[in-house]
Amino acid sequence: MIKELDVMLSLATRSSWHVQFAPLPPHRGVDVVHTNLRLGLSALDDLRDEGGAVGPVLCCPEHQAVLIPVEEGTADRWHAPHSQCLRAGWQCRPGYGTNTVRRCAGGVWLLPDTCSGTLLPASSQDLHHRLCVTRARWASAA
Ligand SMILES: [Zn+2]
Repeated sequence: MIKELDVMLSLATRSSWHVQFAPLPPHRGVDVVHTNLRLGLSALDDLRDEGGAVGPVLCCPEHQAVLIPVEEGTADRWHAPHSQCLRAGWQCRPGYGTNTVRRCAGGVWLLPDTCSGTLLPASSQDLHHRLCVTRARWASAA
């Protein structure tokens, strides 16, 4: 599992992350953006380069998904073709973007190497923008 995770991360991100298998304490007061792992990590790379807040994110290798905390209230106004935002949505949703219904173990936490482990929601506006820009960049490169 660790080797697969390492390969997957090296393909998806250029930043360094600490991997934590133990769960973090339950988080309240955040909404959670669910998106494709590669898209999400690439957008987070850009956010980190810009000095934006990025805290621990939950990565599901099985479903190639990443769950990113954002400020509470985002779920009501998040309308994006590349992701969905759920209230208190820390449960990986098998099937997002596919027809898969297989359940998963839940995934591992990725912490930016500068992160203390405290939950730090990303700016929903900045994250939304970065996901859109990254997706458009990939579409024009294809
Ligand atoms: Zn999953």
